[in-house]
Amino acid sequence: MSAWRKILADSITDPAELPKSLRIDPGSPTAVTSVYPMRINPYYLGLIKRPGDPIWRQAVPDPLELQDRVCFEDPLGEEELSRVPNLVHKYPDRALFLVHSSCAMYCRFCTRKRKVGTERLRISPDTMRGAFDYLARTPAIRDVLVSGGDPLLLDDDRLEWILTELRKIPSVEIIRIGSRVPCTLPMRVTERLVKMLKKFHPLFLNTHFNHPDEITPDAAVACNRLADAGIPLGCQTVLLKGVNNDAAIIKKLMNGLLHIRVKPYYIFQGDMSRGTDHFRTPIGEGLEIMRSLVGRISGPAIPKFVVDLPGGGGKVDLSSGSPQGTAGVWTFKSYLGQICSYLDPA
Ligand SMILES: *Cc1c(COP(=O)(O)O)cnc(C)c1O
Ligand code: SF4
Repeated sequence: MSAWRKILADSITDPAELPKSLRIDPGSPTAVTSVYPMRINPYYLGLIKRPGDPIWRQAVPDPLELQDRVCFEDPLGEEELSRVPNLVHKYPDRALFLVHSSCAMYCRFCTRKRKVGTERLRISPDTMRGAFDYLARTPAIRDVLVSGGDPLLLDDDRLEWILTELRKIPSVEIIRIGSRVPCTLPMRVTERLVKMLKKFHPLFLNTHFNHPDEITPDAAVACNRLADAGIPLGCQTVLLKGVNNDAAIIKKLMNGLLHIRVKPYYIFQGDMSRGTDHFRTPIGEGLEIMRSLVGRISGPAIPKFVVDLPGGGGKVDLSSGSPQGTAGVWTFKSYLGQICSYLDPA
């Protein structure tokens, strides 16, 4: 077994397995894991300093996940936008392709928590074939985002097969991998992996860091390795209450990312995904954090602040417009001109 597989195999999957020093309320969150799975691998566990800290909050189940009555199963309308299973075709020229169901750590705030890591995200030879066929007969799609779950948890050979199949489709110009592995299990980014990946250029990778404590020497090695292979790296951070909804933390994170050669791409307003309401922040708070960055950190360290509109409207840039806000209800015009609403947390 490879070194990273061994680390992954030693993950804890039940709150009762947390070291005593990291438990707040022993036992009670166990009910959560029968609905939303838990997985904390030893590397990510090692980043936690104390219960309730920003790393702990991202990884340890919270009973509040089962008390959310505000948000929706599938706020982005992904199921409706999938004409074949596991391929979300929302924008005219790009598609999101789910190729693996599990992750190196199950983020408690995951936008796709309705199915990631569960049997509800089913990937089979049939769904894979169906997606390749759809892409081949839909030449308007020129950019494919390979995601999941986490595609970098696949073995090198399996991932190479997927990328090879995509490259057989002439209309697919750009391939983007979405992976949290550089943050949550950086030792997965081996020399062998990047040597394989660089055969598939133009290949981009978007990763996902939410807190400066995640920028470790191991994460730096992983990102430098990918960058040295000519793979441009972006980061999609999510604003999360109690994790990073603070101007100083975001500033440090954005600067830290640039330093490990990752360009901050998006800061997301939290999606209205069921089980994540307790993480959401008011839109106004995100706008204020963005204003604190402009002029004060390097231009390339400043991402776009976006909301992915409920109902499948797509992403809109919050920092560029001035949305109409009345009592926590924000309405936006999607790129297609539809009016979509986003509700601030109560
Ligand atoms: C975010 C997303 C994309 C890619 O959007 P970009 O703004 O080009 O990064 C494509 N498809 C779906 C379904 C998405 O959610
Ligand atoms: S790594 Fe991404 S897909 Fe996996 S649990 Fe975290 S947010 Fe969800």
